[in-house]
Amino acid sequence: MIRAKKSLGQNFLIDKNILKKIVSIIKIKNKSILEIGPGTGNLTSYILENCPKKFFVVEKDRNLSILLKKKFEDKITIINGDILKINEKNLYNEKFIVFGNLPYNISTEILAKWILNLDDKNFWFDSLILMFQKEVADRIISKFNSSKYGRLSILTNWKLDVDKICDIKSSSFFPKPKVDSSLLLFKPKKIFHQFKNPKNLEKITRVFFNQRRKKLKKPFNILFKDNTEVLNSLKIDLNLRPHNLSQEIYYKLTKEYEKL
Ligand code: SAH
Repeated sequence: MIRAKKSLGQNFLIDKNILKKIVSIIKIKNKSILEIGPGTGNLTSYILENCPKKFFVVEKDRNLSILLKKKFEDKITIINGDILKINEKNLYNEKFIVFGNLPYNISTEILAKWILNLDDKNFWFDSLILMFQKEVADRIISKFNSSKYGRLSILTNWKLDVDKICDIKSSSFFPKPKVDSSLLLFKPKKIFHQFKNPKNLEKITRVFFNQRRKKLKKPFNILFKDNTEVLNSLKIDLNLRPHNLSQEIYYKLTKEYEKL
């Protein structure tokens, strides 16, 4: 009998219809698969039924890793480790399709890590199919001029295209979490802006969204010291608010900032 560990964000997906739906999103046959946090292997079984060519799973919980080994034997390669510390690029020489019903407390951290480490010539994944708590998913897919729009959507859209597959009710999990979830599909963009240092994108968005209800004037002047050239070339109205600027403008602002 497995007792779910709260510290590892263990909420196991038990709704068979949802499990079936997840494996139908993308062709698994003959592909290389990486599953993050397989838990008791509910989704793992469904993925296996679809005949992947190579199948890695990364599970932090030692007891669950032992259980998975008993259940699946040599059909999957189990890595008992922390996904935040693993270099996915070294796992295999083919691009992965990644599945993850991630613990809520690390989901945005892992997404940020993957985005920052993704270079444009050498994608290590083809697609990411990831579960988030609905509120976080809403922020990731938000567009400018909406109240949820902010740093998370700007960072994600820099290198990834993202689509929402569906919402998933909390009753589809055991133990039942407090909030609903959403499933998102990400694909790497073929072309994206190059920055000297991606930390500058994080800095720019941090300063702008620090006071999201205030006008753009103050953060702009902190970063660009009244630089009218930047203002005119990007046609920014400083009376607007941070959520009124498109992602594209934030990428361009980052490039301008790197020229200062
Ligand atoms: N995918 C399974 C389990 C979801 S619960 C299902 O849907 O039923 C989240 C899983 O992630 C748990 O098994 C937990 O032990 C594992 N986990 C938590 N933190 C992790 C980390 N840093 N790296 C890898 N796995 C982790």
